[in-house]
Amino acid sequence: MSRAVRSRFDVLVVGGGPAGMAAAVHAAESGQRVGIVDDNAKLGGQIWKGNHEAGSAASKWIERVRSSGVNVLCGRVFHQPAQSILLAESDDSLSELKYEKLILATGARERFLPFPGWTLPNVMGAGGLQAMVKCGLPLQGKRVVVAGSGPLLLAAAAYLRKHGAEIPIICEQASWASLVRFSMTLLGQPDKIVQGLQLRKQLAGVRLSANSWPVAANGESVLESVTISRNGRTETIACDYLACGFHLVPNIKLALLLGCQTHNGCVQVDDFQRTTVSAVFCAGEPTGIGGVELSLIEGEIAGLAAAGRIAEGSRQFRKREKLRRFARSLERTFRLRSELRSLPSPETIVCRCEDVRYSQLREHTGWRAAKLQTRCGMGPCQGRICGPATEFLFKWNPESVRPPIFPARVESLASHANPELCETTGGH
Ligand SMILES: Cc1cc2nc3c(=O)[nH]c(=O)nc-3n(C[C@H](O)[C@H](O)[C@H](O)COP(=O)(O)OP(=O)(O)OC[C@H]3O[C@@H](n4cnc5c(N)ncnc54)[C@H](O)[C@@H]3O)c2cc1C
Repeated sequence: MSRAVRSRFDVLVVGGGPAGMAAAVHAAESGQRVGIVDDNAKLGGQIWKGNHEAGSAASKWIERVRSSGVNVLCGRVFHQPAQSILLAESDDSLSELKYEKLILATGARERFLPFPGWTLPNVMGAGGLQAMVKCGLPLQGKRVVVAGSGPLLLAAAAYLRKHGAEIPIICEQASWASLVRFSMTLLGQPDKIVQGLQLRKQLAGVRLSANSWPVAANGESVLESVTISRNGRTETIACDYLACGFHLVPNIKLALLLGCQTHNGCVQVDDFQRTTVSAVFCAGEPTGIGGVELSLIEGEIAGLAAAGRIAEGSRQFRKREKLRRFARSLERTFRLRSELRSLPSPETIVCRCEDVRYSQLREHTGWRAAKLQTRCGMGPCQGRICGPATEFLFKWNPESVRPPIFPARVESLASHANPELCETTGGH
């Protein structure tokens, strides 16, 4: 049986990325007993996964978390069994986490769209492949086509190239006109210009093609080539990997489980990052996709507000508004074009956990009916991949979220039902 631990915090933060760390640090530096729980062994979130070199932004934040006395826990929050209590599970433990205030900083995920061949081995998410390289996957001399949409494609391509991959092409579905408009919005933001110039240097000589997207991944048992549509013509490119993602989707399942209101797929918050549920705040990408700087500022405001330091939090509103303008332009620029809805063939698998094909889904009128009739969204990923895909393909809305939001051990649910099995330890 796994270890069971019970902890109590003034402020509990779920998510150890930039938003969560900024929130935890500001609440802890205000004298609160703070816990931060993340499903990864190390803090840093998606952008700083595995990159904790001395002097880097990640290492500075991690050091600040440590020195401000934040209690760092590893676990995946999967259930809210009672008011102000969350359950988190790791490989060898179950944590029962009680809180006065809760800050959700659960980040975002890549959006995947189905097209023929997308389930072949070596077709991966752009951020996913990057994460595997960060964890040691060698890419020296491998040809990687990067395709889909959003700035993550460029960041991933630069990273993969630095680690030895050959990038024959980056395909971006957005048009050149919208990319040019987007680059104009960066003019008022010196940090973004510097980042853009760095990427340009790192990707010098790599073909970037707008109005382009993958239409098929080809191969017998593993990926051998990718067929892309470029300005209305198709072209097939030999490759070892396809790194493919269509921008990001806010990770809002936990917020939905707690009853927080959402709008257009984002958690609704007020000026102080308060959600519509009392004592629950939200910061970073669940409130909208906006990049690391916006996540940090929202985290800071949420941490200060949760600690009651409202005035200090409000000093950051202007900076946040500027970054939110950038987030709105990201949203406009990388909005998915309608042609992508016709990518799947009738045979294309849409729900890869339950092997549900496009032809089986298109006869249904909504997510609930499709789920009941086909088991779409009922596999281990619990609709994390096919949910956003069907939302785009069919305009379906996942109607309800039920616990556990992640697959959990039966033992974890049972041990919570019997409080005597939980030893009480103090975090604080
Ligand atoms: C796969 C991927 C790769 C990316 N790579 C880059 C990059 O190279 N460069 C770049 O500029 N931007 C990148 N981004 C975008 C970047 O993540 C954001 O710009 C920003 O840093 C988000 O910060 P955040 O704190 O809001 O969320 P995140 O950094 O995503 O942090 C959220 C954390 O919450 C954890 N979490 C979520 N749900 C739970 C739960 N139920 N229980 C416990 N923990 C939970 C997640 O595992 C994660 O560690 C990437 C995004 C993704 C999805």
